[in-house]
Amino acid sequence: MQQTGSSTRSGKVAPPSGELASIVNQCYQCGKCSAGCPVAPEMDLLPHQMVRLAVMGDVDRIVQSKSIWLCLTCHTCGARCPNGIDVPALLDPIRHQILRGNIETREPQVPAFHNAFMKTVRRFGRVHELSLIGAYKMKTKTFFDDMKLGWEMFRRGKIHIMPHSSKRKAEVRELFNKSSMK
Ligand code: SF4
Ligand code: SF4
Repeated sequence: MQQTGSSTRSGKVAPPSGELASIVNQCYQCGKCSAGCPVAPEMDLLPHQMVRLAVMGDVDRIVQSKSIWLCLTCHTCGARCPNGIDVPALLDPIRHQILRGNIETREPQVPAFHNAFMKTVRRFGRVHELSLIGAYKMKTKTFFDDMKLGWEMFRRGKIHIMPHSSKRKAEVRELFNKSSMK
């Protein structure tokens, strides 16, 4: 299923439109997507429920769910769906709108982590864990959370103080520019 359709409207996330809408409208709620989804037990909205909400135009419930951030984009749902409906193709435009529009969600730490991660990749051409942690902590004000884990990672050499830039940093930055990501 191709991604098309959604666009922001009055600062809110718009329901799918165009080709994407005509594809999700074919859903007949058989539940095969949810039955095969590896993270369904952790979800507050199951894949078939998200598809139904999108068809009904109730995107706000998807935006405020945990599930939108739990989807692994494994495409198992798309492979199982008799109508070829791929849930990530529905969720990706919604996630992009949330990230680009700075729209509040129930799980604000997820967009904060995503933005911090992408900033370090844009800057160094690869992730630098310490910069990522610093940017994430500043944004979420969770300075003292996960200190034990952070220390363990540092002790095992998983967190480097100095960043190591990728040799292909310019190419990575070009990709960011082309995608108009900030
Ligand atoms: S498998 Fe496809 S048709 Fe069935 S509920 Fe999921 S999205 Fe709808
Ligand atoms: S792509 Fe997302 S919704 Fe679909 S099966 Fe994988 S985790 Fe579940």
